[in-house]
Amino acid sequence: MIRVFEDLPVDAGFTCKPLDGKVYRAGLLERFPVVRLSLVHGNAIAVIRGLDGSGAAPFRADLDEDFLDVYDADGAVTDLTDVYLTTTHGDCIPIWAYDPVKGAAGLAHAGWRGTLKGVAGSLIRTMRSAYGSDPEDIRAVIGPGIGACCFEVGFDVADAFTDKYPWAEEYVSAHPGARPHLDLKGVNAELLRLEGVTQIEISAHCTCCEPDMFWSHRRSADKTRMLAFIKKGKE
Ligand SMILES: [Zn+2]
Repeated sequence: MIRVFEDLPVDAGFTCKPLDGKVYRAGLLERFPVVRLSLVHGNAIAVIRGLDGSGAAPFRADLDEDFLDVYDADGAVTDLTDVYLTTTHGDCIPIWAYDPVKGAAGLAHAGWRGTLKGVAGSLIRTMRSAYGSDPEDIRAVIGPGIGACCFEVGFDVADAFTDKYPWAEEYVSAHPGARPHLDLKGVNAELLRLEGVTQIEISAHCTCCEPDMFWSHRRSADKTRMLAFIKKGKE
């Protein structure tokens, strides 16, 4: 288990082997309600205002026991205490955010598609609009997730990034005679900085080249997932 924001009044982290993230999530549910996001590689962030089916409106949400399933979102924010926000990861990048001034927690899932669509920026803008967060107060953590060491992409993907974000050139590394590598964590950090976030920590862990610690879709088509979670309120 990798703990996140240990000095803040939250329970947040990322599961590692041998834990199965979905099994770990079912265990969380025995103590507190859990928000599950459907993860569609988009940039939509749900605001969780309550734990009934309408608590994530305008997003469609269903209650399944004490799971609140929120559809068509890749991130969520809440200022509710003792509610877990969760995302599952097989190499995609988790982004945690917490504003200790407004007491707002956020979590997002950023694969390359969501990163390109700017999910990291959406997360911060949603904390501003829903809770009045000042980006300078927000603490953010990026990763563990696939690193530039392992994230080989097609030229079309690299071009899509540099077309949309000219500064992303810095996060695309050319490998002569081979396909480029993309630094997804770096792009997400820059997207946070562009929103005014200054307190950003980037995990050095790569889920693809650390097989003892992580499951990886890219490395071995693992179906098991890691779980990223955050709950306002210590246990
Ligand atoms: Zn790697």
